[in-house]
Amino acid sequence: MRLVLLGPPGAGKCTQAVRLAEHFQSADVATGDIFREQVASGTPLGRIAQEYLDSGDLVPDEVVIAMVMERISEPDCANGFVLDGFPRTVAQAEALDRRLESAGNPLEAALFFEIEELELFRRLAGRSAALHRSDDTEQTIRHRLEVFANKTRPLVNYYERSGALVRIDAVGDVEEVTRRILKLLGQMTPPQAAKLGQGGVPEGQGPT
Ligand code: AMP
Repeated sequence: MRLVLLGPPGAGKCTQAVRLAEHFQSADVATGDIFREQVASGTPLGRIAQEYLDSGDLVPDEVVIAMVMERISEPDCANGFVLDGFPRTVAQAEALDRRLESAGNPLEAALFFEIEELELFRRLAGRSAALHRSDDTEQTIRHRLEVFANKTRPLVNYYERSGALVRIDAVGDVEEVTRRILKLLGQMTPPQAAKLGQGGVPEGQGPT
C-alpha cells in the first residue's frame, strides 16, 4: 500500500501511520522522526534541519525531497509505505508523483485528517508536556499551524483533483479512527480500489 497522510500537527497522523503500516505490512516513513534522529546524531543533514525544526518552519523542499526519494528506494518500502509528514508542499507532492508514476506504482490514497484547531491545541499542549518536543511550545504550535494552512493545505485540492484524496474525521479514539480509515479505503472507487487488494476490513474488525 502506498499512502500519504496529510493533516495539521496534532491530528494523530503519527499514531495512525504506525497502525496502518502494520496492517498493510508497509514501511512507516515519518519525515519529522527522521529529521529529529539526524539532529540528535549531529549529522550534516541534522545540522541543516535543526533551525527549521526549532522554529516550526519547513525544511527546504530540495533537502526533504532528496531524503524521501532515497528512503522510499530502500528494500523495506518494496511492499509499500505510509508517508507521515510528507509531502507538505505542492512541489514535494509533484516530486513524489513523478517518482511513483515513473516506477509504474502510483500513490493509492492521500488521507486528509480533519480536525478543529481548538482540539489540536489541546492535544499538542498534552504532547508537549508528555514528550518534551522542543517544537511543541505555544508560539511554535501557532506557527506550525500557519505553515500548515499556507503550504500544506493546498495539497487537499491537489489530491482531490487526482482522485486520491480520502477525508478522515480525525476526532475519536485511536481504534475508532483506524476503523474509519480502513473502511473508507475499502470503499474507494476504481482505479484505487482495484489496487487495494484485501485492504479494507469491515467495521469492528480493524487491528487491535
Ligand atoms: P513533524 O514531526 O512531522 O511534525 O515534523 C517536525 C518538523 O520536521 C517540521 O516542523 C519541519 O520542520 C520538519 N519536516 C518534517 N517533514 C517535513 C517536510 N515534508 N517538509 C519540510 N519540513 C518537514
